[in-house]
Amino acid sequence: MAFQLPSLPYDFSALEPVIDTQTMQIHHGKHHGGYVTNLNNAIAGKPALETKSVEALIGDLASVPEDVRTAVRNNGGGHANHSMFWQIMAPKGKGGGGEPTGDLAAAINSTFGSFADFKTRFGEAATKRFGSGWSWLVLKNGKLAIGSTANQDNPLMGEAICGLSGKPIMGLDVWEHAYYLKYQNRRPEYITNWWEVVNWTKVAEIYQAAK
Ligand code: MN
Repeated sequence: MAFQLPSLPYDFSALEPVIDTQTMQIHHGKHHGGYVTNLNNAIAGKPALETKSVEALIGDLASVPEDVRTAVRNNGGGHANHSMFWQIMAPKGKGGGGEPTGDLAAAINSTFGSFADFKTRFGEAATKRFGSGWSWLVLKNGKLAIGSTANQDNPLMGEAICGLSGKPIMGLDVWEHAYYLKYQNRRPEYITNWWEVVNWTKVAEIYQAAK
């Protein structure tokens, strides 16, 4: 099999009370697991696709045969998005929460005015994304920018396909499956609480690698 479901870097209960245990179990095992299975099924028997990284795959959808392009877009995007999402979170007070430091903090402050302003704008992108999707911090032409995508689209797919481009630095899942058991219709509360589990050390690593 080309792709595998990565293990979580913490226990299913580690993000309590911000994200509940059952949500993490279903989200990781069933939702992300499903994307991996469906992606592998879509590219099975196509060595040119099976040997690519998921980022390379979704970053060049035009080279994916048309009969499996939508499946690769949805499930490859789902695999890439969730693989990043698990990594950029950590238990509250144990790597999760607080504020970015160093180069990332400086870039956020110079681009958005302050960390508080950045959180407001990122939160607005997450709140206003109608239906299922993601909000993103991306690095585009050396500058940080905020945007959102529908479904499992990823900025690597490019502006023409998903309305956003750039290298993803951090992404927030605002599908109902990410929060509904605990928050029901209260997406803004989920977004506000989510900052308490953001792993800024990991986000900074991704930023440095993207530069
Ligand atoms: Mn999800």
